Amino acid sequence: MCATSPRWRCAARAGGTLVAVDNTTATPLGQRPLALGAHLTVGSDTKALTGHSDVLLGHVSTTDDELHARLKGFRDRTGSTPGPFEAWLGHRSMSTLDLRLARQAQNAAAVAQLLAASPAVTGLRWPWRPEDPSFALATRQMLRPNGVLSCELADEEAVARLVAASRLWAAATSFGGVHSTIDRRAQWGGDAVAPGFVRLSCGIEDTADLVADLSVALAALD
Ligand SMILES: *Cc1c(COP(=O)(O)O)cnc(C)c1O
Repeated sequence: MCATSPRWRCAARAGGTLVAVDNTTATPLGQRPLALGAHLTVGSDTKALTGHSDVLLGHVSTTDDELHARLKGFRDRTGSTPGPFEAWLGHRSMSTLDLRLARQAQNAAAVAQLLAASPAVTGLRWPWRPEDPSFALATRQMLRPNGVLSCELADEEAVARLVAASRLWAAATSFGGVHSTIDRRAQWGGDAVAPGFVRLSCGIEDTADLVADLSVALAALD
């Protein structure tokens, strides 16, 4: 019997399954998985939530008291509590999350436009472009855009040349920080992606500066 909604939440629980959503990229300002029905939401707060690439943090949230007690019990026994300085950095950083996300998203919109027009780029993904396959879902389910995009360049060498030719984009695997980063995912071996697939994370740099810099770097690929 599933009287509550959404029904998948109740059906999952009845079958002994929990629904957990990784909300790292969206951040709690961009998407509310618990309000949408998930039992748990998890996030790496090392990314946009704190956003300065200077602290390792993470969180699990639930509205279920029993799950909360089990999680807290596990944490208390295993000792994975944040240090006071890390907690302070997190609180200081969260006060600017709204502002940082706004600029990151504004930069991503401009960068998406540039990438879409470049002959060196294929497979551009950013869910808030009307052409994106996830546009309808993102606009229905999410509260605001963020600064993370992906696309494909020709190969590993093309990515290396792009990074070498840019001054504002650093090669780094983390994302969501105030500085723009590019990560060639295939180098880690964990994702089933092409050698030239990159994740771009837009920082909070001046939009015109960031676009101009990437434009010069893209031109180096011709
Ligand atoms: C970065 C990331 C992690 C690892 O988090 P750390 O805070 O760096 O330990 C786990 N899951 C997702 C989705 C991430 O983006």
